[in-house]
Amino acid sequence: MKRTLAHILKSFGFLKFDLLARSVTVHPTADEAEVDDLLLVKDGEIEKWACFGCPGGCGKMIALSLNPTQRPRWKVTFDFWQRPTVKPSVHQLNECGCHFWITSGRIRWCERGNRSNRGLGHPTGSRRG
Ligand SMILES: [Zn+2]
Repeated sequence: MKRTLAHILKSFGFLKFDLLARSVTVHPTADEAEVDDLLLVKDGEIEKWACFGCPGGCGKMIALSLNPTQRPRWKVTFDFWQRPTVKPSVHQLNECGCHFWITSGRIRWCERGNRSNRGLGHPTGSRRG
């Protein structure tokens, strides 16, 4: 299992990711969303949603529409290890307000994208503009 191997490699520090993608056929409920799994909801070959628990810690499920006919929409690509890259960035408009990119399975916080600097690679003291 590539997925199991990816987690083993991560535990030894050989592979870095916060999220791995996993295909599902049924839209998850809020309880099923996990912060370390990006659930790719597919209807046949059509990718419809990308769902995961908000990494900002608010506990909300984020569901990104992948439907090309809807706005807003996102595009998700995957590497060999099923690490997702999501474009454009994700900006939660709730009280959590987190704003981040997902690149090769890593959460990359935008400046001012998380209020409490949770130590996930967010640059401190280096604000531009
Ligand atoms: Zn949040």
